[in-house]
Amino acid sequence: MSNSRRDFLKQFGSATAFTAAFAGSSSHFLLGESRPAGDAAHIAQDSMATDASSADSGKKIGYCIVGLGRISMNEFMPGVQKFSKHSKLVAVVSGHRDKAERIADQYGISRKAIYNYTNYEQIAHNPEIDAVYIALPNGMHAEYTIRAAKAGKHVLCEKPMANTVADCEQMIAACRAANRKLMIAYRLQYEPNTLKGISLLRQGYAGKILELNCNFGFNIKAGEWRLNKALAGGGPLYDVGIYCINACRYLSGEEPTSVQGYSTVVDQDGRFNEVEENVAWNMRFPSGTVASCLTSYGSNFSGNLWHVTGTTGTVEMNPAYSYTDLRLTGQTQNGEKTDFSISDPNPQQFAREGDHLADCIFENKQPKTAGEEGLRDLKIIRAIYQSSDEGRAIRMNT
Ligand code: NAD
Repeated sequence: MSNSRRDFLKQFGSATAFTAAFAGSSSHFLLGESRPAGDAAHIAQDSMATDASSADSGKKIGYCIVGLGRISMNEFMPGVQKFSKHSKLVAVVSGHRDKAERIADQYGISRKAIYNYTNYEQIAHNPEIDAVYIALPNGMHAEYTIRAAKAGKHVLCEKPMANTVADCEQMIAACRAANRKLMIAYRLQYEPNTLKGISLLRQGYAGKILELNCNFGFNIKAGEWRLNKALAGGGPLYDVGIYCINACRYLSGEEPTSVQGYSTVVDQDGRFNEVEENVAWNMRFPSGTVASCLTSYGSNFSGNLWHVTGTTGTVEMNPAYSYTDLRLTGQTQNGEKTDFSISDPNPQQFAREGDHLADCIFENKQPKTAGEEGLRDLKIIRAIYQSSDEGRAIRMNT
């Protein structure tokens, strides 16, 4: 451990003491904004980095889990418990006391550290909690991020960041005002197969990138909050199409200059009264690279892949967005095929993202997938809907 870091931790033994020391300051001292977060070119570079800088520290960030649903109970909590080096589970927020007690007992969390949506602000008085992990329906992300920041806690927020661009901007502003970190849980930007794929493309394995093809969807059951526009923001584009948008940006290392989309409903069975069933869209990038993407709630066969066609080869991940068993392959122009896949047991992706925020807190760094990264995807999502509504391509102000 460096002297400066040892001194720092000695002085501010926990991130909460750290909060107390700096809360209310208008200084950006804690934000470490050395570069504009969310810039795709930086994502590409930073994707090669690891979080080894805090590997020598036994200290752990205490997470409060907000929302005990599928992603938190099936993935994030087991992932942190099993694989995390710098994160631990210290509190939960739930509307169901029985479930919260059961989960708290399972993870060795004190029953005193169980909160609900009404007394959520009380987390401010729990020094064990350094950060919250927000795993609520999309339409609740903004409120619970802003309330956490005001309570002096760092935030790891699930994707999509929020329902609206305005909400994203308010979340960034609230965390900045409180001098707290805000990270969006884009788990694949910390995943070794994805990082290897990006690395191959940057090294020119496929030559210049001509086309990106990204698809992700599934057949949704009726009754899901994902079909309620107020809670979900929109349909599959918000939920899983966002993975394709994000992949196009980190694979190309560029930001789209224009988008054109088509939003449709084929299955008129009542599920899609509020949100779309399918979205197909194209994006154009400054280099001339084009992307062709599809997302759907109408079929389990709408894909789970990204495929990059370059001037001298291809790189593909299929499946590309799952929690495990991702498969990365490449083919060069002389027909040589290579399986580059790296084994990554589930749910390690979640421990890795939790540890990245921990590292950023310890080292006072901007998270690789900060709020600005979520905001960029939201702007693209909104432009795709606008394009579909207006029947024209939308130019992006990048
Ligand atoms: P879920 O329905 O399984 O869980 C949602 C949780 O929110 C539940 O605990 C529920 O009780 C709680 N909740 C509080 N108020 C609610 C309300 N008004 N309506 C519905 N639920 C309410 O959802 P999930 O699949 O765990 O998704 C949660 C978030 O995580 C979403 O933003 C989703 O996009 C994201 N997610 C991310 C990934 C990933 O791989 N990163 C995967 C799945 C989901």
